Amino acid sequence: MNANPPIGTTVEKLKHDHALRPKKIDEFVGNKEVADRVKIFVQAAKERKEPLGHVLLYGPPGLGKTSLAHIIKEEFGANILVTTGLLLAKTKELAALLCSLNEGDILFIDEIHRIPKNVEELLYPALEDFKLDLMLGDGMQSRATSIDLPKFTLVGATTRFGDLSSPLRSRFQLIAKLHPYELEDLTQVVSFMAKKLGVELCGSMARLIAERARGTPRLAANLLRWLRDYITVCNGGVWDQPGILQGLKKIGIDEIGLDPVDRRYLEIILDEHQGGPVGVSNLATSLGEKITTIEEVLEPHLITMGLLKRTQKGRELTVKGLAHIKKIKQGES
Ligand code: ADP
Repeated sequence: MNANPPIGTTVEKLKHDHALRPKKIDEFVGNKEVADRVKIFVQAAKERKEPLGHVLLYGPPGLGKTSLAHIIKEEFGANILVTTGLLLAKTKELAALLCSLNEGDILFIDEIHRIPKNVEELLYPALEDFKLDLMLGDGMQSRATSIDLPKFTLVGATTRFGDLSSPLRSRFQLIAKLHPYELEDLTQVVSFMAKKLGVELCGSMARLIAERARGTPRLAANLLRWLRDYITVCNGGVWDQPGILQGLKKIGIDEIGLDPVDRRYLEIILDEHQGGPVGVSNLATSLGEKITTIEEVLEPHLITMGLLKRTQKGRELTVKGLAHIKKIKQGES
C-alpha cells in the first residue's frame, strides 16, 4: 500500500498546514452543513461496507477543502494519495497515478480544474466503471485497451467550480461548497489552532484574531503563527490584547483584516478614479500587478466583504468600501 504522497504532491502546503489541521470530523468547526453531509456520507458507506463515492469540494482557498479530504481518509480508514491538477498535464501522468492505486484508496486532487480536458477524459471511465481506457502504439499500429482499476475514491478540490466540465462534475456523488466562516466559528477555529501551537488564548483574544482573518482559517493560522513570533520576541512572551494589536499593526493588518495591498488597491480607486468605475487594466498598471493576480487573489475577498463591486463599466467602491478607506485615511491624518 502506498501511504506516502506520490509524484506531484503539494508537499509544502501539506507540511505547513498539517500540524494545525483538524483530524476528525467532530473537530471540524463551522461549515456545519458540509461537515454533516460528509459525516453521513462516510458513515453510510462504512455501514454498507461499500466503496466511498467520489467527492468534490469547492470554494475559496484556505477554507478547509484539503483538511476535509484528510478527515475523510481518517474517518474512512483509508490510504490517501495527494496530488494537484497542475501536475497532471499529460495522460501518461494520470494513467501512472491511477495504476498506482490500491483498492479503497483515496486519491485527492487539489486544483482539479487545472487538469487539461484531454487528460480529464481519462477520468470519466475511471470514476464511473473503474476502467482505464488507453490507446497503445502509434498510427496504424495503435489499438485501444482497457485496464481494470481498483475501486478507489476521488476527492477533488477546486476554487473554480465553473471551470469544471459537466461530464466531470456529474461523476461526483457528493458535491459541497465551503463558505467563509462566521465569526463565532472562526473564533473557535483560532482557539483550536492556538491549543495545537501550545498557546493559551482566552476567548476575547481568539475573537480579536478571528475578526481580522476574513472568514478564512488559513489566514487565521498565518496571523496566529506571526503573533506567536511577535509576542515571543517583542512582548516578553505575554499574550495580551495590546501585544496582539501591536503585532497585527506591525504587519499592517487593519481591524477588518485588510493588508496594505488591499488598502492600496481601494485607495487607488478612490484617489485616482473618484471611487470608480474603472477598468481592471488601468488598476493593474497603477498597482503594478498582473490582471490575473488582481482578479484571482486580490478582488474575491474585497467583493465578498462588500467593499468592492464589479460592474460592466469596471471596478467600483461600494458605500462600505468608501467608508472604510475614508476612516483609514482619517486615522492616518
Ligand atoms: P483549502 O484546502 O480549502 O485551501 P485547508 O484545508 O488547507 O484549506 O485549510 C487551511 C488551514 O486552515 C489548515 O491549517 C487547517 O488546519 C485550517 N482549517 C481549515 N478549516 C478548518 C476548520 N473547519 N477547523 C479547524 N481548522 C481549519
